[in-house]
Amino acid sequence: MLDDKDRIFKNLYGIHDWGLKGARARGSWDGTKEILERGRDGIINEMKASGLRGRGGAGFPTGLKWSFMPKESKDGRPSYLVVNADESEPGTCKDREIMRNDPHLLIEGCLIAGFAMGAHAGYIYIRGEFIRERERLQAAIDQCYEANLLGKNNIHGYPFDLYVHHGAGAYICGEETALLESLEGKKGMPRLKPPFPANVGLYGCPTTVNTVESIAVAPDILRRGAGWFASIGRPNNVGTKLFCVSGHVERPCNVEEAMGITFRDLVETHCGGIRGGWDNLLAVIPGGSSVPLLPADLCNDLFMDFDTLRNLKTGLGTAAVIVMDQSTDIVRAIARISYFYKHESCGQCTPCREGTGWMWRVLSRMAEGRAQKREIGMLLEVTTQVEGHTICALGDAAAWPIQGLIRHFRPEIERRIDAYASNPHSDPVPVAAE
Ligand code: SF4
Repeated sequence: MLDDKDRIFKNLYGIHDWGLKGARARGSWDGTKEILERGRDGIINEMKASGLRGRGGAGFPTGLKWSFMPKESKDGRPSYLVVNADESEPGTCKDREIMRNDPHLLIEGCLIAGFAMGAHAGYIYIRGEFIRERERLQAAIDQCYEANLLGKNNIHGYPFDLYVHHGAGAYICGEETALLESLEGKKGMPRLKPPFPANVGLYGCPTTVNTVESIAVAPDILRRGAGWFASIGRPNNVGTKLFCVSGHVERPCNVEEAMGITFRDLVETHCGGIRGGWDNLLAVIPGGSSVPLLPADLCNDLFMDFDTLRNLKTGLGTAAVIVMDQSTDIVRAIARISYFYKHESCGQCTPCREGTGWMWRVLSRMAEGRAQKREIGMLLEVTTQVEGHTICALGDAAAWPIQGLIRHFRPEIERRIDAYASNPHSDPVPVAAE
């Protein structure tokens, strides 16, 4: 459990002043110049030592990512920092709270991260639906310009400009290269990699894309020290983490907790427990809609961290914990997620464009029982042909939830098929509508 003194997000719930005065009272913008005086290498080494792993889903070490940026420009190309504030993974609702209630954590983090990677400009790409968040963020940036914390001749001695760019609202623009395309004014379609953004990113220049939470925690790590951050959590899975718990708990919430807290502690301490009691739990999606679900019997002593969840063939993802109790039609729920990925496919590559629709249609039939048992294996096989065979990870994101369902709930699918076969004239259960 996380001590209050170790919290980074002290205004997550918007109880206090979000503005510069309030943020300064909570410790933001304190000693920022001294942090920059440690130099690029000093900051990157400290970030590496902290053990921070990217909070956007993949869990890649943040300090290492920053170190991929060129030390100096040999060809005159500038470097850019881009912040991914698209937050479109279903179930995820934490970055919006940072931008709404503690935007200065993010802005100070942008200056420091920009300095560490030699970028004099940063872009925050914010999701189209986040109107109020964009207004709040822009107001906070304006405060910083007024106080000369940002800009060409700011008091930190490192010229840095920060821009907010409003997307039009598309899941795929949360994928870093689609985001860059969209930022350049083009259709948000992912790019083939390599080249990676650290070499050829925004406008063909070296770019690092980080998510809001990863950047917002950086100033506190550098102020309090890598050792402090690394002492929280479990080995290789350290620090504090924002969890978004939704679904069938008594009180869904966002909460900052120690990485590696158990699922039971998380829901019982902060969410009032599972609706109807612990035994009423059916399954959990631990990291946003794209990761495979876990059935209740695997959730008893479940550590909520990258490595534990990966070993169980799922993932921490964005730490968007979706809880489903026994009242859930689990096949229908995953069919609805399938429909989402079909809808959000950009259509560039065939396995994703065709496969997402095919998987959704088959799973929708299975939810009603209108299928053959041999189709379960066929569906699983198709998920493996989509997974890893597409330009971006949306193909994987569409395949994984179905794999999780078949891995853990195959008997339930078979039961429906048997029930339908014995009474084909019964009313089918309606499923995710187009
Ligand atoms: Fe587009 Fe899907 Fe291919 Fe990604 S995997 S590039 S979303 S078609």
